[in-house]
Amino acid sequence: MSDMAAPAAGISGIIDPEVLDCTICFDPLQPPVFQCAVGHVICSPCQGKLINKENCNTCSLPGGYNRCYALEKILESLRIPCANAAYGCTVKTHYHEVEDHGKSCPHAPCFCPEPGCNFAGSTVALLAHLTGGHMWPSTELEYNVKLTLEVKAGVHVLHRRDRSPFFLVKFTPAPPPYGSAASVLCVDPDATATMEKGRKFRCQLGSSNVDMDWQQYSRFQVRSTTLSDGWPPTEDGGSLYVAPSTESITVSITKIMRDICSLPARKNIRSQQLEHFCKRKSSNPDAKTFSQPRMGESTKKQHISTM
Ligand SMILES: [Zn+2]
Ligand SMILES: [Zn+2]
Ligand SMILES: [Zn+2]
Ligand SMILES: [Zn+2]
Repeated sequence: MSDMAAPAAGISGIIDPEVLDCTICFDPLQPPVFQCAVGHVICSPCQGKLINKENCNTCSLPGGYNRCYALEKILESLRIPCANAAYGCTVKTHYHEVEDHGKSCPHAPCFCPEPGCNFAGSTVALLAHLTGGHMWPSTELEYNVKLTLEVKAGVHVLHRRDRSPFFLVKFTPAPPPYGSAASVLCVDPDATATMEKGRKFRCQLGSSNVDMDWQQYSRFQVRSTTLSDGWPPTEDGGSLYVAPSTESITVSITKIMRDICSLPARKNIRSQQLEHFCKRKSSNPDAKTFSQPRMGESTKKQHISTM
């Protein structure tokens, strides 16, 4: 980003963004810029693609297009503050970089999922709000280290020491023969970019019953969200259904190494996003009662797994 080169002082004001957009493709202009005799400006790619270079595409005046150095200088000196400045982003970009930065801005606000609460803020502020304001229980998390959580209706916050992104484990009542369902979300300001690039974290939820001698696990890639639309439907991600008598589950979260996992060969090996299995240490017939239900079609249509 080019904010470092921005002038130390300048004037600020309001400008109609249309005057900084190409009159043919309407994309934000960046140098080099071309104009007709009366100032209809176009971008360099459009200028290259024009079949008739003799007349202006907008007003048909003869004379073709010439470089517009004055507007190029304005575009070069213009710095636009990020729309998330109120949430702590200090980046100022060139006009044509605004959209790209907005998609990956680490200060994009995340939203409180509690019904009726309108709080929005950085992940650090939201974490403090959820644990301090709503008094949601929280536990510090290390990647790849198994944690044990009590099965209790409500949400449990898992956060790392650097506090961003953080995770929410939600326990909801489930129909018989299950007692509860546990689901996991990653609260991440970078959620839009994550949708394009693929999920960042993998989670394994597990429970076991020593008396009945069985264990069950659910492994899935964790959905990232800013919670801008509230809590997503439980079926839109992975979950673990547990028996009514289950008192605790284990949770472990692993960072997905994108450069390794995106190798095509690995994609083919595991093409399902969700992997559910019930692992029995013995042939206890009761164990199958608690095998995982089929996930909805909508879940399967999501990203091809890179697990
Ligand atoms: Zn254009
Ligand atoms: Zn013109
Ligand atoms: Zn920003
Ligand atoms: Zn709230």
